[in-house]
Amino acid sequence: MFEKALPLLESYFGYQSFRKGQQQAIQSVLSGKNTICVMPTGGGKSICYQIPALIFPGTTIVISPLISLMKDQVDSLIQIGIPATYINSTLSYQETMERIHDAKQGRYKLLYIAPERLESYEFIEDLKWMDIPLVAVDEAHCISQWGHDFRPSYRHIQKMIQSLPQNPIVMALTATATPNVREDICSLLNIDMRNSVITGFERENLFFSVIKGQDRFRYLLDYVKKNNKESGIIYAATRKNVDILYERLKKENINVARYHAGMGDAERAQEQEKFLKDQASVMVATSAFGMGIDKSNIRYCIHLQLPKNMESYYQEAGRAGRDGLKSECIVLYSPQDVHIQRFLIEQSCDISRANQELKKLQSMVDYCHTESCLHEFILHYFGETETEPCGRCGNCTDTRTSINVTKEAQMVLSCIIRMGQRYGKSFTAQVLTGSKNKKVVELGFDKLSTYGIMRDKRAKEVSDLIDFFISQELIAVEHGTFPTLYVSPKGKEVLLGNQQVFRKETAQVNQVSIKDP
Ligand code: ADP
Ligand code: ZN
Repeated sequence: MFEKALPLLESYFGYQSFRKGQQQAIQSVLSGKNTICVMPTGGGKSICYQIPALIFPGTTIVISPLISLMKDQVDSLIQIGIPATYINSTLSYQETMERIHDAKQGRYKLLYIAPERLESYEFIEDLKWMDIPLVAVDEAHCISQWGHDFRPSYRHIQKMIQSLPQNPIVMALTATATPNVREDICSLLNIDMRNSVITGFERENLFFSVIKGQDRFRYLLDYVKKNNKESGIIYAATRKNVDILYERLKKENINVARYHAGMGDAERAQEQEKFLKDQASVMVATSAFGMGIDKSNIRYCIHLQLPKNMESYYQEAGRAGRDGLKSECIVLYSPQDVHIQRFLIEQSCDISRANQELKKLQSMVDYCHTESCLHEFILHYFGETETEPCGRCGNCTDTRTSINVTKEAQMVLSCIIRMGQRYGKSFTAQVLTGSKNKKVVELGFDKLSTYGIMRDKRAKEVSDLIDFFISQELIAVEHGTFPTLYVSPKGKEVLLGNQQVFRKETAQVNQVSIKDP
């Protein structure tokens, strides 16, 4: 069937070739598999169900929450000669009935519906009289409670599909690639996770890096001054940090604007305007800033503190370089931020949600500690599999030599096991460095063979090393009342001597204080 796809793409849509992912998604659906397709906005998701709709006999149902876009979508299909229509709350009863009637006659290749329709028993009965080969669920993340846009009416989709005697193929489409959300979509819509097509998250003009062990404010000031002709965003974790940083930059005669939820509406709008119109070159803001902002020439995006997870990081950093020109995305990392974010999460969520959020935070921390390609780390996080190191991020361009730290890894891993895999990072580091801490002695850990085997190092160094091993997935973190370490399957391979571990030589950083501005 797939040989029909390309000629249809050319004749109806006027495109010469499929984009990465489109072909795979279409092939998967045509071979009768329920499929999930994850691509960023503008990636070309519509084609993934429109081409199969043209190939299959009958009417493909498209469920979409975006009522305002439905008419446009249908109009443009009609314009290129594809019979399509929509049914939603903007139609009169009469119009609705006519369209349902025509759909039962098989007059449409595509029928767009709003999810609220599925709450009507009569409508579901009507659907049973249509020839439906495929149901495409657009904005499929709306089905998941973990998504940012959960819609209860999406929960009816599952029931509707099950009740259809036609047994249609299901295709879910979304731009939200969080693993949780994806799992949720797949289990609710009965899609095998192996039928996931995830592409297009790569942004080739973005240069990612993580800066550690430096005075953050100095770094920031130097950076902003060096790039004073360029537009940039600096994200800070709290309103107070935004205000402090704003004042400090102003004192340095930098043309700065600020934005956070604690400011009045008018002032906020004014500050935003200044930035959008290039009257201010730097925007200092909390994550409240940026939704729906369309400014293409943002050359850098710096996070003064650790973002709370990879999703928000990639969204915020991705505001840089919309024009396709080289842009930098930098995280200024300091380990104490982890505690602050942890605290914020524990304050604001119930337990099950908090555990989810802590896992996401862990990935963000791993990002800061990995020595592999940062861009690849991001793409893997979002589920893309066929990736290559970007060759331009801070890690890819790191010229320091790698040293073999397998022995150190084995020391740490065996100590974690001897301690019963029930303790956190600092405590493990204390045992390894031979601390005389009361708790160490009380628990008898000073009798362990691994006690003090790293006493030539400072506890902080060992703690960094543990972070690195976590980022390499040799050690896993269990988020309970407090985070505890345990040895992963990969870590066990290292213990058995089946796998070597390498780490970049630690940089000779001056021990400057890492303070907030
Ligand atoms: P999404 O729904 O993922 O946000 P759309 O389906 O609206 O994206 O597509 C975004 C744009 O890309 C549209 O203008 C569409 O016509 C165009 N497009 C889609 N597929 C192709 C292709 N294979 N070649 C060229 N342009 C394409
Ligand atoms: Zn890279």
